[in-house]
Amino acid sequence: MKVAIASGKGGTGKTLLSTNLASYWSKRQPVVLADVDVEEPNDALFLPFSRLNQEDKFKFIPSWHADACILCGQCQEICNFNAIVQLENEIMVFDELCHSCYACSELCPTQALPMIPHKIGELKHSQEGNFSFVESRLRVGEEQAVPLIAQTHQYVDAHFSPQTIMLYDCPPGTSCPMIEATKEADFVILITEPTPFGEHDVKLAMKAMQKTSKTYGVVINRSDAGDDHLRQYCKRNHIPVLATIPFDRQIAILYAQGKLVYEEIPSVRAALDQIIEFIQRL
Ligand code: SF4
Ligand code: SF4
Repeated sequence: MKVAIASGKGGTGKTLLSTNLASYWSKRQPVVLADVDVEEPNDALFLPFSRLNQEDKFKFIPSWHADACILCGQCQEICNFNAIVQLENEIMVFDELCHSCYACSELCPTQALPMIPHKIGELKHSQEGNFSFVESRLRVGEEQAVPLIAQTHQYVDAHFSPQTIMLYDCPPGTSCPMIEATKEADFVILITEPTPFGEHDVKLAMKAMQKTSKTYGVVINRSDAGDDHLRQYCKRNHIPVLATIPFDRQIAILYAQGKLVYEEIPSVRAALDQIIEFIQRL
């Protein structure tokens, strides 16, 4: 079972839910949590596990060989991403813009553009008991999160059995990284808060999930801090509200200290129970 945890915007409690749900669920069965919010992963702050494995992640980009090049210009023409520019006597490759499609390399009549590995980030894998944690972090300056997210999914698939509960802490928003992160999920949890901003952004996230034909439900965080519009909207549109987490100052204090909160806050434990039971009934 693959469950993605996403949100229309940041700051709604996605990290809180991901880390606490993964830890709590792992008391019952093996769980892996993958932090695929690769531009800003922060689940590790709450999970100081000992490291099992660490590896660099790469994408392949063309490397220009001046001696072989006849400056025919075909590589610049074929690239849909403006990652190759022909100057008077030179071909420039902009690594960050390259989508590794291989088109220029394969088209080049003189094999002057072989593809070479380019480091885009790092993946770390750690474990404590039944709870495994995988974190991917994009290298500073890299612009494309999608290849690293895709490689993290591949890593999890290769290292964990399908019986393991696989949770993915996804990038916020509705752009390509969020779509890539939720792509393989059997179910998506959208966490939000009952404010006009929260409602607006989660509706965008819902539309994205509808377009990609994902099954999803909503968790309302700080549920007593806003109004009832979101809950009514979900009811009218038959969108399941899996759980609500009331505002509690103690949650904020524990969170700020980098602690998991479910052991001390009964309302969080109750919400996690409801979420797990809902997903297990699917
Ligand atoms: S396609 Fe190959 S030969 Fe032609 S300009 Fe590009 S690198 Fe040079
Ligand atoms: S591999 Fe594809 S995206 Fe990258 S430079 Fe070549 S044509 Fe452009």
